[in-house]
Amino acid sequence: MSSIQASRGTRDILAPEIYDWQHLEALARRILAQAAYTEIRTPSFEATELFARGIGETTDIVGKEMYTFVDKGDRSLTLRPEGTAGAVRAFIEHKLFAQGGVQRLWYTGAMFRYERPQAGRQRQFHQLGVEVLGSKDPRADAEVIAIASDFLTELGLTDLVVDLNSVGNAEDRLAYRGALVDYFTPYEAELDADSRDRLTRNPLRILDSKDKRTQEIVQAAPSILDYLGAESQKHFERVRSLLQDLGIAFRLNPRLVRGLDYYTHTAFEIQSTLLGAQSAVCGGGRYDRLVAELGGADTPAVGWAIGLERLVLLLQKLSQRTAPTADFYLVSRGELAEAKALFVAQSLRRAGFITELDLSGAKFDKQLKRASSAGAKAALILGESEVASGQLQLKWLATGEQQAIALTDITANPETFRQTFSQRFSS
Ligand code: ATP
Ligand code: MG
Repeated sequence: MSSIQASRGTRDILAPEIYDWQHLEALARRILAQAAYTEIRTPSFEATELFARGIGETTDIVGKEMYTFVDKGDRSLTLRPEGTAGAVRAFIEHKLFAQGGVQRLWYTGAMFRYERPQAGRQRQFHQLGVEVLGSKDPRADAEVIAIASDFLTELGLTDLVVDLNSVGNAEDRLAYRGALVDYFTPYEAELDADSRDRLTRNPLRILDSKDKRTQEIVQAAPSILDYLGAESQKHFERVRSLLQDLGIAFRLNPRLVRGLDYYTHTAFEIQSTLLGAQSAVCGGGRYDRLVAELGGADTPAVGWAIGLERLVLLLQKLSQRTAPTADFYLVSRGELAEAKALFVAQSLRRAGFITELDLSGAKFDKQLKRASSAGAKAALILGESEVASGQLQLKWLATGEQQAIALTDITANPETFRQTFSQRFSS
């Protein structure tokens, strides 16, 4: 029978890569807790309509990339392609706005998009995201960018660039949209097929095209910055000055758009120069009209999502994290000694030591070799004679130095044992 493999565009995450994931997840938890953000876990699938309305029918995600299926109850469901729509649905459904003030939420989890798999682009991938709901203060925009920047910097990533833009409010964009249609129409025949289609439906998204000829045409297109009204300009100036105060470098990129009607004001992306074609690690912005669009009360909001696979690729370019190594490795032989060894292992684990138990029943020297290659700091050796005398042998694997220890020192006084040996381990 032929063996079954992971589906195209999905992958298993194994050691040692898993240690990079655990590291960045732990760091994210710490940084977001320090900023008083609350974790939210929403379902992996939602009603298809949520994404159609929340992301927009004219986007690549909704138009081409969704995993949509009809369940046995005849409902159209979709594996979530991103996290904002679900978070906003939960915000409305649980009336989180009734708690007053600002909600700061974060999430992490698998997302699903039917894309052409390549380095840094998968069909099941993972995002970490934040959403700040209920504030139109430009400080909220600057805060979320600062948190992303701190997180990436603490991970050790130094080659990052923040691209910043404002897409204004609905009124500004209506004027800009007209200017774009006027500009692109004479080039219509030269645009790629998707962009031609967007010319009438959503011309802002043409700026986002990855087609080479379209990109050339985009170079001379009008800039959104020339179409911002007084309110939008004021908001954008404030965001920029707050970022400058925070010492966060950014470059203005008037071609950076989030082409939906619900996106407003700040749009940003964080790029890494080390990532090649898939260079964006973080994308975000303000979406003051989305909550109302999904049926909630008018609620301004801003957020971002980071692609974790791309972060892990970057971490691996720096250096690979390794497995935490065992403090103790238990070597035993003979039925009585083997039972005692399991008992001792549990005592040590409860006392906080990383403890590995050899289950092989092999000869002592073989087990000791495994203790060394596992990188353990010390081996604890238990044979028939040790059990008879109520002792075991502790062997420091780096020096070969050996000492006898009473079994009861570990099993009856684990706290004293912990204190004595924690010191030896740290010295
Ligand atoms: P791209 O232009 O690379 O397709 P996007 O605009 O579709 O990105 P967003 O929807 O803004 O991406 O998602 C935020 C982040 O999630 C991206 O910056 C990227 O790091 C990551 N991401 C998006 N799609 C994928 C994917 N298919 N595989 C891995 N990571 C992804
Ligand atoms: Mg994409």
